Amino acid sequence: MSRSIWGRGVALCALFLAGCKTVPPPQQLKNTSHTFTSVVVDAGHGGRDSGAYRRSGPPEKVVTLDVATRLSHKLRDSQLNVVMTRTGDVFIPLDTRVDIENGTPNSIFVSIHFNDSRRRGVKGFETYYRSPHAAELAQNIQSKLCSLKGAVDRGVHTADFRVVRKALYPAVLVECGYLSNRSEGREARNGEYRELLADKIAQAIVEQRYGVGAYHRAPAAAVVNREAQPQEQRRKPVLAPPGEGPGLAPPTLSGHGP
Ligand SMILES: [Zn+2]
Repeated sequence: MSRSIWGRGVALCALFLAGCKTVPPPQQLKNTSHTFTSVVVDAGHGGRDSGAYRRSGPPEKVVTLDVATRLSHKLRDSQLNVVMTRTGDVFIPLDTRVDIENGTPNSIFVSIHFNDSRRRGVKGFETYYRSPHAAELAQNIQSKLCSLKGAVDRGVHTADFRVVRKALYPAVLVECGYLSNRSEGREARNGEYRELLADKIAQAIVEQRYGVGAYHRAPAAAVVNREAQPQEQRRKPVLAPPGEGPGLAPPTLSGHGP
């Protein structure tokens, strides 16, 4: 059953994403949920927008980019075309992200975020969508994430975030756990765990397109984002294949506004 984000009193990260009220009329919504050939992978935040910020680890914008990059590799390995809204630490306006998703023919859109709450005990996965054509994809991603050991299922919900509200194609926004929670914040700082997150999301997307059993997990990708690694791991050489692109600039200290 769907609920609105506004009654939940959490998800500061999500509040940052709301915007104006323009919505495509229902007849313009495209149902590519089982026929898509491209996936627009959106790493939340970036540049001057750090997203959720914790002193004990990298800000949300860094871990979203890491999961999004790992996810993009896995989807390409499964013969899907991938468009990333950002591949570095740059600020991308929400409307530009919407333009990218709506300008990618025969696509779906997956936005990667981590959550935040003033109540540090709050934890778990949440997946959001708006178009009814995205409901099944949202449920599949949520189910796969909740198969991780110790996962807490906070449910699939409709929401008015701009990137899902203005999307013509099926669009979902995935909250991959709470950085404000001690255990989920620690997990988010772990590259192996982020690999698992990307793997579960990739499996849901590939099975949505090609059917259950179609996904074949590839070997773990090389480290793609040095800033997402704990300090002690950063001292080790980073093994990245040619063409992976440069590491990110150091994160800024600005967090979410009030
Ligand atoms: Zn966010």
